[in-house]
Amino acid sequence: MQCFVFLGIQGSGKGTQAELLSESINFQHINIGDLLREQVTKRTELGIKVQDIIERGDLVPDELVFEIVEKSLEPERKGIVFDGFPRTLVQAKYLVEHFEVLQVFFLELAENEAIARLSSRRICPACGTNYNIHSNKPQKDNICDVCGTELIIRKDDQPEVISRRVKEFYDQTLALKEFFAKQGILSVIDASEKIDEIAAKIAAIAERLLNR
Ligand code: AMP
Repeated sequence: MQCFVFLGIQGSGKGTQAELLSESINFQHINIGDLLREQVTKRTELGIKVQDIIERGDLVPDELVFEIVEKSLEPERKGIVFDGFPRTLVQAKYLVEHFEVLQVFFLELAENEAIARLSSRRICPACGTNYNIHSNKPQKDNICDVCGTELIIRKDDQPEVISRRVKEFYDQTLALKEFFAKQGILSVIDASEKIDEIAAKIAAIAERLLNR
């Protein structure tokens, strides 16, 4: 199965861009963080295992991540946009063994800008849509545009947890940039630009690869 991948520090806009790309090319969007939070809310066996890990800002063990990836696959779809996966070298190797990776988009953003964005992020607890109280406000204050639910701050967007998550990014995930660059499938994208400008650049690359 063909796939595109989004990598980047927390707050770099992976979720937003992955959603836009998956809609425009009609691929399945797999956001591991959302799937894990859904398991926590539903209090499934997996959700109970991962709740503390997520709330502390640590990474969930690779085997549990593979389990959730496998369960979420919709084999009738044309392809997948992965968002928040892979985050470790073990996951990156699993990905290239199991999928045809067309391109990895690395959304580059300075750490201070990423932290500022996470601190102003709000999320819809019902449908998972992300907002930013400065740059991507909902139409009505604190209410989700999609489903009308009151927005919340994610538990792991609290300052102490943000710093752990950012540390995990530098310790584990940044190495994947080199891993995919060596395979010749990495595009580094400036994530400080406007959402639609970034989306246009990504869509152009994706369409070129799909039409070749
Ligand atoms: P996110 O919404 O992408 O920021 O993910 C929220 C949390 O889910 C992370 O802080 C991790 O605890 C967990 N998580 C998401 N994706 C992964 C992954 N690929 N590997 C391990 N843990 C993950």
